[in-house]
Amino acid sequence: MESESEIQPTITIQNDESFRDHLATVDQSGKRKWIYAQKPKGRFYNIRTYVSWFFFMVFFGLPFIKSNGRPLFLFNIPEAKFIIFGKIFWPQDFFIFGLTMITFIVFIILFTAAFGRLFCGWVCPQTVFMEMLFRKVEYWIEGNAAAQKLLKKAPWTSEKFFKKTTKHLAFYFLSFVIANTFLAYIIGVDQLKKIATEPVSEHFGGFVSIVIFSGVFYGVYAFFREQVCTVVCPYGRLQSVLLDRNSMIVAYDYKRGEPRGKYKKQLTGLEIGDCIDCFQCVKVCPTGIDIRNGTQMECVGCTACIDACDKMMESVGRSTGLIRYASENKIASSEKLHYTGRMKLYTLLLIVLTGLLSTLLLTRKDVDGTIIRAAGMLYQERANDSLSNLYNIKIINKTENNIPLTLRLENAPGRIIEAEGKSISLPKEGQAKGSFFIVLARKMVKDRKTRLLVGLYEGDKRITTLKTNFMGPLFIHKGDEGHEQKNENQNEHH
Ligand code: SF4
Ligand code: SF4
Repeated sequence: MESESEIQPTITIQNDESFRDHLATVDQSGKRKWIYAQKPKGRFYNIRTYVSWFFFMVFFGLPFIKSNGRPLFLFNIPEAKFIIFGKIFWPQDFFIFGLTMITFIVFIILFTAAFGRLFCGWVCPQTVFMEMLFRKVEYWIEGNAAAQKLLKKAPWTSEKFFKKTTKHLAFYFLSFVIANTFLAYIIGVDQLKKIATEPVSEHFGGFVSIVIFSGVFYGVYAFFREQVCTVVCPYGRLQSVLLDRNSMIVAYDYKRGEPRGKYKKQLTGLEIGDCIDCFQCVKVCPTGIDIRNGTQMECVGCTACIDACDKMMESVGRSTGLIRYASENKIASSEKLHYTGRMKLYTLLLIVLTGLLSTLLLTRKDVDGTIIRAAGMLYQERANDSLSNLYNIKIINKTENNIPLTLRLENAPGRIIEAEGKSISLPKEGQAKGSFFIVLARKMVKDRKTRLLVGLYEGDKRITTLKTNFMGPLFIHKGDEGHEQKNENQNEHH
């Protein structure tokens, strides 16, 4: 017969919050604790693997896809030229960019409030590259977590040297490929090909960029790893304000799991929870945390602990889902997922912003520009009966055709005289500048400032209309003397 002490389970009740005072990857002395994450196995890991294949296909394939001879996506920050779905955006479209950014941020807030860190776990490039590429290469070369630990402690034999060198060469190669692809999103594949095939001296800047990017990616995936998510990533830092008790997160069902206790078959029927305290969920965690402590900023929602726990539950004949996707409220009181007031407000905001953005995109002009009066000049007198103003025009062509432009006054009888004496030639996907005079009959100028509309024409086809002002002499209207004098003084002062 078994004694009382033999059947007493090891029960731990976790209500200590001290784990929140330090990072799981830093020890008492402040030194980095290296995470040897065990390779997860299970349903979610398999699905994440398929998602990662799709991700790699898109990430490595997109720069090669062209639409009408131009890249489908290009984020040329140095030249301030952006192509999204084949459409070119210039700095002049900054308000569209601004609005896109705001819409994107609201979307992120709404998405996070509803689905927690689903993005981090499934499609964030950092997680996907780390867990689905670099970590897999590491498992392949050095073995699973235990083998990696042993290798680390082992003396420098030829086997250790071979494995470490192979791993780091493979890591650098992968980082080099990622860096090239990353650069292709900025400068385009054609330019990248030139850097790869032409002498280094002709593309020194591009060459240095590849070396720097490769070094950064290698440093991140070989050494910095989960620290990107737990220390650097601003999105990770925002989780505490974005999530609420109704957000869907990877959660441990403490109601079912506690009090946790080591599994012993003979304990069946004793008052312990389903958690058998096997630590498998901790061993697979790439950020080194214990999800049983509750929601933590370091959790990237990678689902590895769900798979690990499900496997343990199956092996002891208990139902799976002790760790699962659920909201805190759902775990606490079995409440259904709520569509909260905060989420309703974000949704409304998102609809408004999306509507605004769509309108701006649909009404975006292919040719756009600005006309500004030449700085420091008021007006010129031409003979006795005319006045003129000098203007600078800056135009941008977002189409794939060269456009010879002529200017016409739309709302006043007057003349436009191009300063260079020729029409403005607007190159495709480029910009052009020019200067011109607008000459108006003196009798037409009835105010200090006259609003003018200038049409931009290709042949007889009006492409767009730009607004500007014509400055004339000061007109003193009856009763306005004091006011106008004040304005005149101000203008002169300027
Ligand atoms: S706690 Fe689970 S979901 Fe969160 S990072 Fe660790 S393994 Fe991934
Ligand atoms: S894997 Fe599941 S059973 Fe094991 S310690 Fe974690 S929560 Fe408990």
